[in-house]
Amino acid sequence: MSTLEIKDLKVSVSTDDGPKEILKGVTLTIKDGETHAIMGPNGSGKSTLAYSIAGHPKYDITGGSVTLDGQDVLAMSVDERARAGLFLAMQYPVEVPGVSVTNFMRTAKTAIDGEAPKLRTWVKDVNAAMSRMNLDSTFTQRSVNEGFSGGEKKRHEIAQLELLDPKVAILDETDSGLDIDALKVVSEGVNRFRGGEGKGVLLITHYTRILRYIQPDFVHVFVDGKIAEQGGAELADQLEAEGYDKYLTAKV
Ligand code: ADP
Ligand code: MG
Ligand code: MG
Repeated sequence: MSTLEIKDLKVSVSTDDGPKEILKGVTLTIKDGETHAIMGPNGSGKSTLAYSIAGHPKYDITGGSVTLDGQDVLAMSVDERARAGLFLAMQYPVEVPGVSVTNFMRTAKTAIDGEAPKLRTWVKDVNAAMSRMNLDSTFTQRSVNEGFSGGEKKRHEIAQLELLDPKVAILDETDSGLDIDALKVVSEGVNRFRGGEGKGVLLITHYTRILRYIQPDFVHVFVDGKIAEQGGAELADQLEAEGYDKYLTAKV
């Protein structure tokens, strides 16, 4: 069971000119087993939504609520959010020099489960997850994301997703910069994850391409910090044909 409920979420960042409101009241519920796609032009606040749910300190929540199965997510620390079952794959994954992939994943898994995974099966599980993402086994000994290509970073994020097996995954432009083969591998990983019992996915993307491989149940068009329109998978096709122009013109 997992329901992520976002209600009238308002978020600001501080700038030299004072606080700037980025999210202007976002309401969205991801129920058990649903995949929601958020599409929208650059700068519309998609990453802000992802980071705010994950608990990035840069973002000030000025209104609204986020709950996971009724628990107040916004009151939780970043660690607590992960333990509660939230996972964020970032648009720009950060490098963690000096920390190997295998140690990084083991620490994360231990934090989430409350106990360390058994070493023997863990090594096997990590290697299997990497190999499903077409990352060879030497990757597990490398520093997290250091020197990884764009596509390798994204594939590594999905390997993490499968290993950590959260309740709700927020994937921020996991498709950007992927060639067609990598896109397929990444999509297969996401589809395996969401094949699990009651898994929720919030898939943020700029392009409709990935939605051919990962069929969303709902599509939301995000414009200027708000949801401008919502529909089913067909809305993505309409966006593909028409672009975001009509929403942008409507704004001014
Ligand atoms: P998206 O992911 O949809 O491209 P973002 O959430 O990254 O959009 O950004 C939303 C808006 O917030 C952008 O216009 C961006 O410039 C603005 N923004 C983000 N951080 C800051 C900041 N520290 N100062 C000023 N503006 C910011
Ligand atoms: Mg962007
Ligand atoms: Mg973004």
